[in-house]
Amino acid sequence: MFFRTVSNFVRNEVYGSKTIWKICNRLSSTARRPEIAEASNLTDIGTRSIFSEEHDIFRKSVRRFFQEEVLPHHSKWEKEGQVSREVWEKAGAQGLLGVNTPAEFGGIGGDKLSTAITWEEQMYVNCSGPGFSLHSDIVMPYITHYGSREQIEKFIPMMTAGKCIGAIAMTEPGAGSDLQGIRTNAKQNGSDWILNGSKVFITNGWMCDVVIVVAITNPVAKSKAHGISLFLVETGTPGFKKGRKLEKIGYKAQDTAELYFEDVHLPASALLGEANKGFYYLMQELPQERLIIAGLAQASTEWMFEETRQYVRQRKAFGKTLSNLQTIQHKLAEIKTEVCIGRAFVDTCLDIHNKKGLDSHMASMAKYWCSEQQNKIATQCLQMHGGWGYMWEYPIARAFVDARVQPIYGGSNEIMKELIARKIVADK
Ligand SMILES: Cc1cc2nc3c(=O)[nH]c(=O)nc-3n(C[C@H](O)[C@H](O)[C@H](O)COP(=O)(O)OP(=O)(O)OC[C@H]3O[C@@H](n4cnc5c(N)ncnc54)[C@H](O)[C@@H]3O)c2cc1C
Repeated sequence: MFFRTVSNFVRNEVYGSKTIWKICNRLSSTARRPEIAEASNLTDIGTRSIFSEEHDIFRKSVRRFFQEEVLPHHSKWEKEGQVSREVWEKAGAQGLLGVNTPAEFGGIGGDKLSTAITWEEQMYVNCSGPGFSLHSDIVMPYITHYGSREQIEKFIPMMTAGKCIGAIAMTEPGAGSDLQGIRTNAKQNGSDWILNGSKVFITNGWMCDVVIVVAITNPVAKSKAHGISLFLVETGTPGFKKGRKLEKIGYKAQDTAELYFEDVHLPASALLGEANKGFYYLMQELPQERLIIAGLAQASTEWMFEETRQYVRQRKAFGKTLSNLQTIQHKLAEIKTEVCIGRAFVDTCLDIHNKKGLDSHMASMAKYWCSEQQNKIATQCLQMHGGWGYMWEYPIARAFVDARVQPIYGGSNEIMKELIARKIVADK
């Protein structure tokens, strides 16, 4: 159903029927799909054995969307500290939000590989602004996995359409890595709840229409983890206030905000899932969040490599292009090798995840390694741009600052190593 919808869209709106069938016929040959190391460009469509020709068709439409609807506006959004509402609705209209959300819930009904295409294509235009992946692949799954029929019907179709923007608020000024240290709490008042507390660093926090808030609901539970619940809080609810849109060193077009809750009265229907099961739900969903960060990081290294390769081929020094210098050639050889090794591991994780088997251990390894690589490669690619790489007008500068947050959020890399190590020492 998903691919039929996408194919129809692409066929009718983008390419015209003759071209599309030519593409399909070429792709349906029995030849092995090349891996990125074999392709002429690391971002080529038609590569990677985990994907099919239907995925390629979808990728073409996603690529076109980011090139036409995101890239030209990104500098303006960086100055404004947020993207437009219009781009959310356009993404919704093109079927790019809730791609992996089941169609019976009001999502698009694509597989996990299709939604990964949307993460990758966003990085292939080097535009971190729209918080689509958090909305589609972190917030929406909480609602479909743990929400009531009423909550699913209320939020999911609107979120798929880009008319309701989602966020998730775990972190507080005094508690990030140690989630059990949160102080935001909800007290039962008859069948209702009264929510108090504050959150910080919330992606989509300024633009969100609904936010999943993590709160303590049983302060005397046998451990803090047994007394945490999740609530769906809508913008406009009395007592729910948005604070500053935070000024960051990167992700400048993404709205990251402080949120305040002062005696917010929530009906019983705002509770997501069961009371005091929130920590368990968070642990279930975190592998996907970590895989998204790995996927974004990996795609960014591919983009940075290609951007730098193009730059050194035209930049002249000492009478020839930089690409003629052996030191530059060796650096590109090192980067390409490392990027391709990263791609092999991320694709393995994506493949396992698509078959519903990815565990926290592998997701943490992917998040840790890819985000470290992203920063290392960003530094090396910027270096090859010389002084121009330090100028905001050169896209590599944005890639460099955007990379910095990746080892910090989604569980810092120090925490990732804790999780990885836990299994290493436990395994017999
Ligand atoms: C741009 C951005 C967007 C974000 N988006 C969201 C969002 O949408 N929702 C949300 O809830 N949060 C979000 N966050 C918050 C993010 O998840 C936290 O910043 C992160 O979890 C780290 O928490 P902290 O900042 O409190 O650092 P701390 O927990 O104070 O950690 C400080 C340092 O100590 C290290 N450390 C802590 N504990 C240990 C340990 N046990 N062993 C070794 N080292 C340790 C950490 O790794 C880190 O290096 C975002 C953050 C940023 C910067």
